[in-house]
Amino acid sequence: MKTKIIATIGPASSSSEVLGKMIDAGLDVCRLNFSHGSYDDHLEVMKVVRSLNESKGTMVALMADLQGPKIRLGDFSCESIPLSEGSRIVFSTRPVTGDANRVYISYSSFAADARPGETILVDDGKIALKVIETNGVDEVTLEALNEGVLYPRKGVNLPETSISLPSLTEKDLQDLHFLLDHDVQWIALSFVRNARDIIELRKLINEHPSVNKPLIIAKIEKPQAITDIEAIVLATDAIMIARGDLGVEVPMQQVPMIQKKIIKLCHRHGRPVIVATQMMEAMITNIRPTRAEVNDVANSVLDGADALMLSGETSVGRYPVETIQIMERIISQIEDYEDIYYQHHEPEKSTGPRFMSDSILFAACEMAQHTNAKAIVVVTHTGYSAVRLSSQRPKANLYVFSNDRHVLLSLSLLWGVEGFYLENVESEFRLTEKINSFLENKGLLKTDDLYINVLSTPEWSQGKSNTLRLGRV
Ligand code: PGA
Ligand code: MN
Repeated sequence: MKTKIIATIGPASSSSEVLGKMIDAGLDVCRLNFSHGSYDDHLEVMKVVRSLNESKGTMVALMADLQGPKIRLGDFSCESIPLSEGSRIVFSTRPVTGDANRVYISYSSFAADARPGETILVDDGKIALKVIETNGVDEVTLEALNEGVLYPRKGVNLPETSISLPSLTEKDLQDLHFLLDHDVQWIALSFVRNARDIIELRKLINEHPSVNKPLIIAKIEKPQAITDIEAIVLATDAIMIARGDLGVEVPMQQVPMIQKKIIKLCHRHGRPVIVATQMMEAMITNIRPTRAEVNDVANSVLDGADALMLSGETSVGRYPVETIQIMERIISQIEDYEDIYYQHHEPEKSTGPRFMSDSILFAACEMAQHTNAKAIVVVTHTGYSAVRLSSQRPKANLYVFSNDRHVLLSLSLLWGVEGFYLENVESEFRLTEKINSFLENKGLLKTDDLYINVLSTPEWSQGKSNTLRLGRV
């Protein structure tokens, strides 16, 4: 399958037995959600994934998701607080135990940032409230716009407020340092507002002495991020369309077109893109998804997602393995459809230092289409060639070789990429012959198959792609 599957790992899926079955069913990336779980829980999942990779010979990657400036209500002295339309309540930034008059909100500068008339949303948008007044220090008076019930610790979204919280909270910084000591391939940042958030995170990653640098995923779930989307796409290594919070922060009917537009933009700039949240939500409790969910998965593949992400379905759901099996079946059906593959769309004209290799990688896909080649085969040091080739969506299989296991693992997120570890790439004589016969021995290339080697001549020395070779087995 070309489209990849990411699953959030939690109590329902963290055992070696269940994870092993999920990998057999087609899982490509495990997501560790740092909004939940202890460091020990996450370390245990990392250990299990690594040992399964070793025993199965797979390349399942690790993604860690930082909570970012997520805002919540505090604890209540009662079970819940019913609100009727028009009733008023105070949100306080002091640590109060909530009651019908006053509840705590975990956003220290809320009273300073809030403006009368702004709407705030609680519990996935189930309750909307309007800011009536703020004392500028620690209390904001709100009026309920609909009838509903407040429960303790529920999330709060403030789409209209210019939130002055930093993009990386104290907790995120601590989590980041923990993660940089543990070699994960991807770090996702929640509630990204602009490209600066990504640049700042990258600076912290680069300052850390770790050898295996994680790549960055910008989670798009704020209206401000939509406004700055092109700069964010250019600054980040990958994008996640985080439809859960996004559908609360912008009118939910806008999410389908936002999804399509962001995916197109990512293809144009060569950035992997993930579609996330509520893809198979019904499977948290049911053995089958709803028909609407089947359509959503199918349409996300048609839109051109690199990877589809599961959250509660695999972290706490009853059917983590079956969810992946059914998702694979839907993906496989849609990938039979020719229109999803490379259609001569020329990428953004490349003028920078990568101009030559970009042209070669574009030509590889054009040639594969023209000759109906079975495979495009490339050796990569940084992963760059694989990203460019994948973002053009060639029908030919993409076989990527590298002597860097961390890079290969990170490529597991990318549409169509199949990675193979190769030792001594640099000293290897007749490298291309060796790789091609490896693929033949694995049965991935058969007699009469055409294939394209993307090469760096005169020899491979971390050089850039500059040569194409068309061969037949
Ligand atoms: P979350 O992100 O699961 O961390 O909230 C995904 C989303 O908001 O869709
Ligand atoms: Mn979110």
